[in-house]
Amino acid sequence: MEARPLVAILGAGESGCGAAVLAKKVGYDVWVSDSGNIKPTYKAVLEQHGIAYEEGTHTESRIVGAQLVIKSPGIPDNAPIIKKIREQHLNDNTSETVISEIEFAARYTDAKMICITGSNGKTTTTSLIFDILRRAGLDVGLAGNIGNSLALQVAENDHDYYVIELSSFQLDNMYDFRADIAILLNITPDHLDRYGFEFQNYINAKMRITRNQTASDAFIYWSEDPVISRELEKLNLKATLFPFAEKKTPLSATANSVNMAYVDGDNLILRASTDEPFSLPVSELSLRGKHNRLNSMAAGLAAQILHIKSDVIRESLTQFAGVDHRLQYVATVGDVRFINDSKATNVNSCWYALESMTTPTVLILGGKDKGNDYSEIDKLVSEKCHTLVFMGLHNEPLRQHFGSWFKGLIIDTDNIHDAVIGAFKAAHPGDTVLLSPCCASFDLFKSYEDRGNQFMQIVRSL
Ligand code: ADP
Repeated sequence: MEARPLVAILGAGESGCGAAVLAKKVGYDVWVSDSGNIKPTYKAVLEQHGIAYEEGTHTESRIVGAQLVIKSPGIPDNAPIIKKIREQHLNDNTSETVISEIEFAARYTDAKMICITGSNGKTTTTSLIFDILRRAGLDVGLAGNIGNSLALQVAENDHDYYVIELSSFQLDNMYDFRADIAILLNITPDHLDRYGFEFQNYINAKMRITRNQTASDAFIYWSEDPVISRELEKLNLKATLFPFAEKKTPLSATANSVNMAYVDGDNLILRASTDEPFSLPVSELSLRGKHNRLNSMAAGLAAQILHIKSDVIRESLTQFAGVDHRLQYVATVGDVRFINDSKATNVNSCWYALESMTTPTVLILGGKDKGNDYSEIDKLVSEKCHTLVFMGLHNEPLRQHFGSWFKGLIIDTDNIHDAVIGAFKAAHPGDTVLLSPCCASFDLFKSYEDRGNQFMQIVRSL
């Protein structure tokens, strides 16, 4: 009997585990290898499906000899094991050997794929589209960076539609995948350490979301983003373009001569379908702030392209509850509002959070600094904040930057308890205390969720 082809799966997290279950189901011999510890829940899944695995090491000979390797997005392309696999398969006459879980899973489903990427706003927009499709009664799964892996859903409970949040790392190892609807929200520098400190490499990864698209597919993008506009001039995309923008502007590059979604006076307009344009007062959107107007436009266009009724779109855009740790309202204590925006792990997302503040603000920021340029938020900080609370093990970059010009109060802390108490004392009735740290959380916390949860717990005990 001919041996079954071997697939090696690197990384046994959500995506690796799901890929293993699917690979086994479709007839591969499967070997899962994780250089760290595998979580007990994932081990149980592998054991339940009789899938062989190792942890704390990579047995190179087995992995390098596999016909196909599915790599966790957390493993960089220049990791020694990936380099070895590529060298070994250099002369193979087949398509790519190292692929992502999404690329693999998509080979085994006919579902319509709605894919969302961008430097900021992915989770919010993905969740909002999922909400609209669910309200419309469609059979839809949520996948990518959120929810269960695409592979597991394809293996066990395949859907008609998937709404998939894609990071640049996932896109890096996608080759034949084609999105029916691709959404690119924005591109600002991020994760440059994984891209040889070349912004263009990161841009190229993001633009891969349009790969393999044809004229019958849709590309929804923010046309006021200078990086995206520049790329569109360079690339000759085949997909049908659906731009969205804050301002209604003529766009010569598109078939239709103005934006497909825009803000006109007080109203948000969507006109991706040939029906009457959809119009909704901006004040009725459930998600607040300029960034969320953009996210709502992107989601609304996707829904219109899928011919979802205006009533359903309206219901979702006005009622969607939002996603935890993104401008999440926590409580009002002594007439001071507390907002948890712990997911703001870069300066750009803090900019949008500050932009949406409508009261004097006490800003808590700091953490693991990825080489941030804080000058991007200077103007908004000077307009909106009377107090800055630094919270981190290394606040020097913050002191250096803001200390030189900020006229308000600066409170220096190295733990979240002191930060919240300090912020509360500095706030006046009617103010907002905003946790929007601009930084990763790993100096003091397990994750941004942990940071946000601790913040909310302390606020609720005030
Ligand atoms: P991602 O999944 O891309 O990290 P999220 O939806 O989790 O994005 O939002 C993270 C943070 O980014 C939010 O707290 C918000 O401050 C900011 N943000 C959300 N949408 C946008 C947008 N369209 N443009 C810029 N910043 C945004």
